[in-house]
Amino acid sequence: MELVRATSLDQVDGGLAIHGGTEVVPLLRDGILQTDRLVDVRGVVPHGVNGGTIGAGTTLAELEVNAQIPEALREACRLAASPQLRNMGSIGGNLLQSTRCWYWRLQYPCRLHGGDRCHAQEGEHREHAIFANDFCASAHPSDVAAALLALGAQLHTTQRELALDELYRLPTEDDRDLITLAPGELILELELPPGSSSSSYPRSRRASTSRRWTGSAGRSPRSASLQRGRAARPGSRSPESPRSPGCSTARRASRRRLRFPEQPGRSTWPGRSSGGP
Ligand SMILES: Cc1cc2nc3c(=O)[nH]c(=O)nc-3n(C[C@H](O)[C@H](O)[C@H](O)COP(=O)(O)OP(=O)(O)OC[C@H]3O[C@@H](n4cnc5c(N)ncnc54)[C@H](O)[C@@H]3O)c2cc1C
Ligand code: SF4
Repeated sequence: MELVRATSLDQVDGGLAIHGGTEVVPLLRDGILQTDRLVDVRGVVPHGVNGGTIGAGTTLAELEVNAQIPEALREACRLAASPQLRNMGSIGGNLLQSTRCWYWRLQYPCRLHGGDRCHAQEGEHREHAIFANDFCASAHPSDVAAALLALGAQLHTTQRELALDELYRLPTEDDRDLITLAPGELILELELPPGSSSSSYPRSRRASTSRRWTGSAGRSPRSASLQRGRAARPGSRSPESPRSPGCSTARRASRRRLRFPEQPGRSTWPGRSSGGP
């Protein structure tokens, strides 16, 4: 495998982007992601905070202690993963992390792996999406995205500007990707609207690395807040609510014995060659 340390954006085309590698490296190791060309984007993705502008290369550890960052977002960063992972993990990579669906991670030949079944719908789906779960019941695991959605964040990429909710999509039979970035398109910066510094966070108990709690975020004209609670079962649907980051991911798999419907088969990632969802 070739490793390219990009110093200009035109070197990014045609490879798998890696920033902190906390997500990419385990997926490569497990064979879920495959590439001949790994492109280290740390030299081309902006880093740091300037008022309401956050470089996509800024780590979660830097954000959680930065006084310019709204409290809801700082708290979401603080709750994510472990200190070691937050030291390496970038906010851009966090938004693009893959589903934590255990069937997908164990490479069951499910719909997101190009198959024709959603094993979670038939099997263990306790921590999956509670609506918009017909085709695939997984939910995006990013806590940070939930806070950013509540704050009304915009993204600047190498190709366009978009609202954060436009980054995500529901998979379909014809297009099983979960994000809307084109191959080679990089997130460069996130923009928070003026006034978002008045956000607040009601504290609640959580074990950060086990992800045993769900996250949800809401925003009022004067404040944004991030709240956590136990996950609801899929099946209770809200036709008016899109599935969004933070609606699932209570992670009790480590404490419970999972029942899997059949032996896993190997499969390749059907979507973007340059990365997972
Ligand atoms: C054990 C564990 C527990 C975790 N717990 C939580 C948690 O509780 N809450 C939570 O929110 N997150 C959690 N995470 C996720 C973690 O925060 C992310 O793995 C991390 O932020 C990803 O950042 P990275 O820079 O390492 O991304 P990488 O691994 O480098 O990349 C991740 C993905 O983003 C793409 N990418 C990276 N940067 C860019 C860019 N600028 N533009 C376009 N594509 C890009 C890569 O191609 C890849 O697809 C956990 C992760 C682990 C391993
Ligand atoms: S929820 Fe999605 S990722 Fe999980 S088994 Fe079903 S199709 Fe696969």
